[in-house]
Amino acid sequence: MMQELTEKIRTWAIMRGLDEADPNKQMLKLMEEVGEIAAALARGDIDEVQDGIGDVQVVLTILSMQIGTSIETCTALAYDEIKDRKGTMKNGVFVKEADLK
Ligand SMILES: [Mg+2]
Repeated sequence: MMQELTEKIRTWAIMRGLDEADPNKQMLKLMEEVGEIAAALARGDIDEVQDGIGDVQVVLTILSMQIGTSIETCTALAYDEIKDRKGTMKNGVFVKEADLK
């Protein structure tokens, strides 16, 4: 389902020329959408949080295209980095071993 949706997002973006638009502008859009998640969380509006997370996924999918890579490649790189990561919860956040003092 995720793969099919990602393909649809890419087709949607290409049809609008977004794949060749300015990644710096896309970065601004990303921060706007991230802010919407924070606002929705602050209000306890789970529907809007879901909307925001989806928007961020779409924006990142397109940003990846604009810089000549793919969201799948970026996610695979990220997972490869975290998969064996050890760490501990500290004050409610996960702190990786390398950052523990
Ligand atoms: Mg939004």
